[in-house]
Amino acid sequence: MVLKVKVLNVDEDSVSFLVGGVDVAFTNALRRTMIMDVPCMVIDDIFFFDNSSVVPDENLSQRIGYLPLKTDLDRYILPVDCDCGSELGCEKCRVVLTLDVEAETETITVYSGDFISEDPSVVPVSPGIPLTKITPGQAVRLEAYARLGTGKEHSKWQPVSMAVYQHVAEIEIDEDRCTNCAECIRACPRDVFILDDGKLKVVDVNACTICGECEKSCPVEPIAVRARPIDDLFLFTVESTGCMEPAKLVTEAVRILSDKLDKFANKVELGETADTLNIFQVDQVEQDRLYKGGVEDIDDDNEDSTSGLDGAASEDADGDKEEEIVSKVDLDEERNGVSNVEQ
Ligand code: SF4
Ligand code: SF4
Ligand SMILES: [Zn+2]
Repeated sequence: MVLKVKVLNVDEDSVSFLVGGVDVAFTNALRRTMIMDVPCMVIDDIFFFDNSSVVPDENLSQRIGYLPLKTDLDRYILPVDCDCGSELGCEKCRVVLTLDVEAETETITVYSGDFISEDPSVVPVSPGIPLTKITPGQAVRLEAYARLGTGKEHSKWQPVSMAVYQHVAEIEIDEDRCTNCAECIRACPRDVFILDDGKLKVVDVNACTICGECEKSCPVEPIAVRARPIDDLFLFTVESTGCMEPAKLVTEAVRILSDKLDKFANKVELGETADTLNIFQVDQVEQDRLYKGGVEDIDDDNEDSTSGLDGAASEDADGDKEEEIVSKVDLDEERNGVSNVEQ
């Protein structure tokens, strides 16, 4: 397979490029890798020292957890790859940010830009995201721990706000039959055609979504225009959350996908794929939950044992910080309540 890439446009947050010589399976694997496997930095643990705003700790934590942070993939490693073994990480696998805002004489808004980071290169992408409002006498004081993670773990770690592809179209105009009546120009929602000196012309084939409206509108018989997908040419559009440059995001996805394919090829060679596939078998209790009709089939004991939410809630701040801390919101707890269905 010979892969051909042509970059059409790059700006601060997005990139669009053509990928040729590949099939849908490969293209979708690349898209999913961008969404689910490229790590980025977000806040994962928060210690509240004071929060007298109207927004409860849990809601404020969730809002803070979704703040995109500038990410330096060359400087930090995933906590699972770090040898520190610390729950809150070390300087190689986490960054501490603090928020200390108090309203004195008037009501103020607390913004993402009020965070102070121990690493000036890891800060909220936008300083203007409102977090809460506080009136005189109220304050928000907290310590937040950011770490690398992936979208596979939780959607807040997805580094892209958009990663889509579409087939590139091949548009054929039969000049012998075309009367240049311009009906297809009026019907096309993407301004793909123009009349140039009275003659129908394609000006932006990449804008075509192969909707078929031009074919339907053509009055001649048989029709003089056809739009068909090219099987092995795709237009990608990727928009970063701002956590890293879009070009870095795409190259990182290619590197990760390439590593995965190498590992998979090794497993195939060693005949280890059967073991790997067994891991994905669904437990009997989950099968009951997913496929049987009615909740009466589910064993209550099993249901309790699979929940684990109570246990997570009781795992609060520990050690010598315990007295000062009003509450610790462990975002893992919220993660348990969010379905992390792969897209
Ligand atoms: S298929 Fe749809 S988008 Fe493409 S040229 Fe025809 S009308 Fe326009
Ligand atoms: S609608 Fe058909 S005949 Fe009219 S300009 Fe388009 S292709 Fe030509
Ligand atoms: Zn560490």
